[in-house]
Amino acid sequence: MGRAFVYVILGGGVTAGYAALEFTRKGVQPGELCIISEESVAPYERPALSKGYLLPEAPARLPAFHTCVGAIDERLTPKWYKEHGIELVLGTRVKAADLRRKTLLTATGETISYKTLIIATGARALKLEEFGIRGAGAENICYLRSLSDANKLVDVMKASSGGHAVVIGGGYIGMECAAALVTNRIRVTMVFPEAHCMARLFTPKIADFYEEYYESKGVNFIKGTVLASFENNSDGKVMAVILRDGTRVPTDMVVVGIGITPNTSLFEGQLTMDKGGIKVNGQMQTSNSSVYAVGDVAAFPVKLFGGGVRRLEHVDSARQTARHAVSAIMEPGKTREFDYLPFFYSRVFGLSWQFYGDNRGEVVHYGDFAGARFGAYWVDRGRVVGAFLEGGDREEYEAIAKVIRLKIEVKDLAELETQGLNFAVQVNQQGLPDGGRILLEKPIYTWHATAGVVVAVSVAAVAYFYGRRRKIL
Ligand SMILES: Cc1cc2nc3c(=O)[nH]c(=O)nc-3n(C[C@H](O)[C@H](O)[C@H](O)COP(=O)(O)OP(=O)(O)OC[C@H]3O[C@@H](n4cnc5c(N)ncnc54)[C@H](O)[C@@H]3O)c2cc1C
Repeated sequence: MGRAFVYVILGGGVTAGYAALEFTRKGVQPGELCIISEESVAPYERPALSKGYLLPEAPARLPAFHTCVGAIDERLTPKWYKEHGIELVLGTRVKAADLRRKTLLTATGETISYKTLIIATGARALKLEEFGIRGAGAENICYLRSLSDANKLVDVMKASSGGHAVVIGGGYIGMECAAALVTNRIRVTMVFPEAHCMARLFTPKIADFYEEYYESKGVNFIKGTVLASFENNSDGKVMAVILRDGTRVPTDMVVVGIGITPNTSLFEGQLTMDKGGIKVNGQMQTSNSSVYAVGDVAAFPVKLFGGGVRRLEHVDSARQTARHAVSAIMEPGKTREFDYLPFFYSRVFGLSWQFYGDNRGEVVHYGDFAGARFGAYWVDRGRVVGAFLEGGDREEYEAIAKVIRLKIEVKDLAELETQGLNFAVQVNQQGLPDGGRILLEKPIYTWHATAGVVVAVSVAAVAYFYGRRRKIL
């Protein structure tokens, strides 16, 4: 049994939806495109799972957050795929890929062949069992990656209402789930080995702000230690977690957010790997010219960082890499090298932050931490390479993005601190030839922003993609 398509997208997550929309805009014909997904629903905006989906009142439910509503674009319901002649093969895991023969073998025994393949398999949540923790399969232990994970989490939260949860892990998922649990009237203890939350991004000062905020909402932090074991009742449910330092924390439920690992196993030995993912070039093309990779699974060169290869685990990167791959496939002559400004965000309680670029080099904090309107710049070898802002408005987020995109040179860090957000706002208002929003053609611009801060802007990249309204899910 078998079917053949011109284009196959393997994976039905965020990138699959954005790629499908782009395919239709670039003229894909009915019957040419197929999406194969282990999930039983059409592609959706995954970030909604830790935000709107977990709200105690009027929670978001499908079809409301099918892609591509997160980019204020069309909402691709199953009907949309049908109308466009796109085959959605849902609830179907691909268990083998033969890139030489250009075939995929599904768990149902079907062989699906392609001319061009887009790998969009994303990542999976790391499980406690992989770290040798016993009893980690208990029914009140939750993860959060897929819709079915989210459904389980909602059920377990309902059963634990008024009770207590332990959140293992202080990263994105841990922080967002802790906020959701509190909103659902569940007391939370967060446990993680690092000295502060969001250790991969936050500075200690930024982390202090969020930890204090969380504490004001009733969240308790236990830092610098890890989970050692579970104490289960006779039904196998977790009653308490035991930490490596011997602390026993009684609990009604556990949420685990200890990181993800890209789904590359089908392609090991067939494609070149890098940074734990599948290595692609500036066209999102893998070491096999008929195969592209996008989203969390793809490791791509970031021109802004001198072509250094990065694998990003964020939704904006998923959307942009998907669009770029389709453009490279459908319009190879017109598609330039991918030129991406790394961007990610989070939204918890009434707080909202955005980060652009890279968090390396010296940190300069600014703003009003007590008033929840603050940020930081990262300065590496005299240039601003990363910018974080909590509590900004759209123009201010655009402004910090622009500072990073333009690799502004800064000589006086003390002055940068004094200027704070105003520094970015002034850069944004300098008035580039086209308003600075869409396209910057010249390789070098130089401004003197204010006394003390000499701004030399080198625009290595010409395609400045920004100014698009971002809806946060
Ligand atoms: C709860 C949550 C909240 C998030 N919030 C944010 C946020 O606030 N900001 C942000 O920037 N990012 C956020 N992210 C990250 C963002 O969602 C991901 O970067 C994005 O989903 C990556 O898209 P993708 O298409 O590469 O992978 P995914 O969306 O994970 O899709 C991968 C798809 O491939 C399928 N698949 C995998 N292997 C197979 C196989 N062998 N056969 C068939 N199908 C397969 C999977 O079932 C899945 O449908 C969040 C992620 C989660 C889980």
